[in-house]
Amino acid sequence: MKVHTLCNTCTVGIANDDWTALDACDSQEDADNTMAIIMGTLEILGWLSLIGPADMPGYWDCALCNETCCSGGTNFATLKSAPWNE
Ligand SMILES: [Zn+2]
Repeated sequence: MKVHTLCNTCTVGIANDDWTALDACDSQEDADNTMAIIMGTLEILGWLSLIGPADMPGYWDCALCNETCCSGGTNFATLKSAPWNE
């Protein structure tokens, strides 16, 4: 099992299949690019199971969209690791 820490946008997206937070992107192209990254990574990782709050200290990168975040985060488990966390 591998643990992946996701940003709030991805947590809501995975938990509720609600990606409307991407509407806040600067452009539709930005939103489409981010969604493509998320879907591509999901195909690699497979099913994500919710563990709980990560309470990350400082800066970290979301395992799904690769966005840099500050503190917080939510942990999910998979059988695989993200390509950039190898
Ligand atoms: Zn994310």
